[in-house]
Parts: sequence; structure tokens; C-alpha cells
Amino acid sequence: MHQFQTGLLDPAVQGELFRCLHCGMCLQVCPTYHIYSTEMDSPRGRIALMRAVAKGRLKVDELPSSFTRHIELCLGCRACETACPSAVKYGHLIKAAQMTIRQNTKESLAAAGLKWLGFKQLMPFRERLKVLASVLWLYENSGLQSLFRSLHFMPQALRQMELLLPPISREYFNYAFPAPAIGTKRGKVAFFIGCVQEAFIAKANRATIRVLQRNGYEVHFPAGQTCCGAAQLHQGDLEFASELARKNIDAFLDQGFEAVISNAGGCGATLKEDYAELFTEDPIYSARAARFSALVQDFSEFMLDHLHEPPNGVVQARAVYSDSCHLRHVQKISKQPRQLLRLIPGLKLMELKRPDLCCGSAGVYNIVHPQTANPILDLKMEDIKAAKADLLIVSNTGCHMQLIAGTKRSNYPMRVLHIAEVLEESYTRGSQG
Ligand code: SF4
Ligand code: SF4
Repeated sequence: MHQFQTGLLDPAVQGELFRCLHCGMCLQVCPTYHIYSTEMDSPRGRIALMRAVAKGRLKVDELPSSFTRHIELCLGCRACETACPSAVKYGHLIKAAQMTIRQNTKESLAAAGLKWLGFKQLMPFRERLKVLASVLWLYENSGLQSLFRSLHFMPQALRQMELLLPPISREYFNYAFPAPAIGTKRGKVAFFIGCVQEAFIAKANRATIRVLQRNGYEVHFPAGQTCCGAAQLHQGDLEFASELARKNIDAFLDQGFEAVISNAGGCGATLKEDYAELFTEDPIYSARAARFSALVQDFSEFMLDHLHEPPNGVVQARAVYSDSCHLRHVQKISKQPRQLLRLIPGLKLMELKRPDLCCGSAGVYNIVHPQTANPILDLKMEDIKAAKADLLIVSNTGCHMQLIAGTKRSNYPMRVLHIAEVLEESYTRGSQG
């Protein structure tokens, strides 16, 4: 069994825990350490807490609330893993700690009900999410949104969720048929559509497909695909996450695709890293999951190697690229998006002061822990403002929504676009002459 199924008492987890040398090199990249400056809200402090459980100083069936609080405040951004000179696999450790908490504590009925609704009844069903998106589109375009925002007595939690609502685009692609290559056909790829991004920020998906087509790729949309299962997995629902993973593996495998393209850093990380780990003991799916994961490529990773049509239209902007943590620290992709963007005529790409700092999105973290996510977002916006940028470029759904909220929170209006949208804009301008 993998660590995230067995928790902190697993001998493999204990071995990993004791590789930490307490050097502290990870502290400065940790967003919660930045906010609270407390050891227990740093990676080293959290590892010390996990060791206390592993050594039996803290009993798994009597976990103190302080343990749960410090572990749950971790965003899972994994910046600490990149910074660690001892190559401690913090991602495995935090999953094991979260699993230990879930196996030994009871959640409220309300929390369980909300999770059931969001993770099981909405996210795996694109069409249901689109119905929700249509209702919210009406809300945004009927004057109700302005009314809501003027009502200052609304609960803070509701206001926080409302702020995260992006302008809903509803420019949906027709996924019934493959999208043909434009010009010379150079290959056949599949596109991982995802769930929330398709419903709420459909423009990013549409642009991704068009850029692939423009570079000679026929793009397929296997009908059996569903949500990647990242949120369900991080909530400890391994059974349901495995069900979603099986559906995706079956939908994409053995169809002659050169690659499965994901354009969301968080989904891609799950497809690449977690699927193989979910099925370590499954005689059939362990090999299938490994083959599937090897096919998955992030959009920028694939495009940089397969850019047959360089972007040719001028996009006059002073831009910053905000790394998706799961793209940078899990998939180890940080150069490719920048290299692609530097090819766009007119685009001046600035670097953020702390490019490895999370934006505070982290799945549903910004909804569950707004008191920590908001100051982290403010730090990010400080860096963006310091770069005097007028275009903010992203590569993950959660970051996209969080940073749109950031521009509103900090009253710093600017365009927030997925990297594929910026490339598409360049092509469109190029073809207009
Ligand atoms: S994953 Fe991110 S938030 Fe969690 S300890 Fe590491 S750096 Fe800090
Ligand atoms: S950098 Fe690595 S070894 Fe050093 S304290 Fe952090 S986790 Fe431990």
C-alpha cells in the first residue's frame, strides 16, 4: 500500500521523516511561515510534529487539535520539496499526515455533505457544472452581483467565495468530434478537458485546442474522461479518486495518442504523479496507470517541443507569469512557459521577486482557510504590483480564479490570462496583419 493509504505509522513514511536534517533551508519558501513566522507552521515544524506521531509521543487516536491545525494549514504547494537539499519527499509526508488525521477524526455532517455534493455530485460531471456555471453567469450579468456586493451584512465566508467567481465565459468547444489539424498534420494528441476550468474559464480550454490545431495537431477528446480526482484524493477519498482515475486511464490509453495534454498544473500533477501511486498493488492498473502517466504532458511542456508555428502577432504588454505550484514543484516545469512567452513579439516578460511563492489557491484552501489564503494572496499581489505588470499569465485553474480575485482585492485591475490564451492572441493578431 502507498503511504497516503496507510498514514504516518507506515515504516516507509517513518524512513522518509528521519531524512530531514532540520537545516531550515525550506523555511523561507514556505507561505505559511511567511505569514505566521512560527516554527510549527513551517515545513520543518510540521515534519517535527509528524515525527512525534511516528515515535508515539503523540497518539494517533488522541491527536491534539494543534496537530490537526498546523497540518491542515499546509497548502501542499511543495515549494519546500524543491528547496530541500536532502531531497525529503515532503509531498508524501503531508499526504500521510492528512490520511492519519482523516482516519482518526470525525468530520461534521455539514462538511461531509458539502464534500459529497462538490466532489462526488458536481466535479465528475461536466454538464452539471455547466448548468451551475449558467446560473452563475446569469447572476453576474443581471445586476444581482452588484446588489450582492453592496450588501455588507452578507457572511464573510459567502463574500469570500463570491470574490473567487471569475467572469464566466461560456465559450464552450464542441467536444463531440476531434478538432482537425490546421495546415500540415503533424500528429494526433488527446486533450484532458478537466472539470471546473471547462465550466467556468472555458476560454482557456478553447485557446489550448486552437493553439494545438494551429501547430498541426489533430486534437481528440475521449468521451469517457472525467475529473482528474485531485480534490477527492486530497480529501482522503481514495476509493472515489481511484474510480475516477480508472475511467481516465481507460478513456485515453491505447488509442495511438502521441500525448495527453493537460493545461492545468494541478490536474497534470495528479495525472502524472498520483495515478501510479494509487494502483501500486493493483495487478492490472499499476502498469496501465504508469503507461498513462507517461503520456501526460503539460501544455507548455508539449508546445515548446512542438512549436511548428512561432507566434507572429504583436501582444504589447508588460507581463508576469505566475507559476502554478504543482507545475513548478511537482511537474518541475518552470522554464518552458517562460521560454514560450519570450517568443511572443511585443511581450515584455518580467520576473516576480518570489516566483516560487504560492498564490494561496491550493484547491479549496482559499475557501476553507481564507484567513491564511488572503494574506498569502496579498503577498503575491505585492510582487505583481512591484513588477508594474499589466498582464498576468497563469497555467492552472485554481491560480487563475485566485489571481482574478487578487486583482479585485488589491484594486489593481489587469488582464489575467492562461498562457494558451496569450499565444492564441498572438496568432490572431498575426493573421490580422
Ligand atoms: S507544502 Fe508549501 S505550505 Fe506546506 S510546508 Fe511545504 S512550503 Fe509550506
Ligand atoms: S530543507 Fe529539507 S532537510 Fe532541511 S529542514 Fe527542510 S525538509 Fe528538513
